[in-house]
Amino acid sequence: MELTVLGTSSMIPTKERNVSGYFLAFEKEGILLDCGEGTQRQMNHAGIRRTRVTRVLITHWHGDHVSGLIGLLQTIGNEEPTTKLEVHGPQETKKRMQHLLQSCVFENKVQLEIYEHDPNWMREICEGKSVHVGKMVVKPEQVTFVENGKKFVYIPDTTLNKFIPMLAKDADVMLIESTYAADLPEKAEEYMHLTANDAAMMAQQANVKRLVLTHFSQRYKEVSQIQSDASTIFPETVCAYDFMKIKV
Ligand SMILES: [Zn+2]
Repeated sequence: MELTVLGTSSMIPTKERNVSGYFLAFEKEGILLDCGEGTQRQMNHAGIRRTRVTRVLITHWHGDHVSGLIGLLQTIGNEEPTTKLEVHGPQETKKRMQHLLQSCVFENKVQLEIYEHDPNWMREICEGKSVHVGKMVVKPEQVTFVENGKKFVYIPDTTLNKFIPMLAKDADVMLIESTYAADLPEKAEEYMHLTANDAAMMAQQANVKRLVLTHFSQRYKEVSQIQSDASTIFPETVCAYDFMKIKV
């Protein structure tokens, strides 16, 4: 797998950093993790053709993570009108995609397949509990399995919670937000984000091999403080930058 970082800023793009977007190439799959405003242009700079995208994973519907979607669909449709594209996201993704498609004068030529994922359902399964889906009872062992290979985890906008180390356990690479340096825990709490220390502690608890920090507040022109805060707790830390490539 190879990850190309397309945007490392939090809500507001800066001269150095675009908003969220990451492209994960894996065999024939091209998985776009979030698609903030300007992601297409970042793809141009990174040399990634839009039609390489086979799936878009939307982590949540904040503007800085999805505002580039409509333009991307328009371009992909123009380049190859029969292209199929899977869009995966949280609950209400189907409704929001519909709103998005209706918001512009635009003929959608991409064959969209939209999937919604229920975080509560996932949470229970992660905790080893069976869940009810309609009249069916689904046991964790029926829908989860370990496949040998590499593990890559992406954790965007979040507060500290016990599910992070659970989901990221033994990952080869954990890409996680670190909006603030360690000296602004009150800001992190107010805006529901992580500091560098939080992210590093999560990496330690999850026993990941490499920690990659991203989603930096626009207050930081450069991120050496974030890097040094996190490295003190978890030495295998790097701060991502736009167009960085990471082999997993
Ligand atoms: Zn965000």
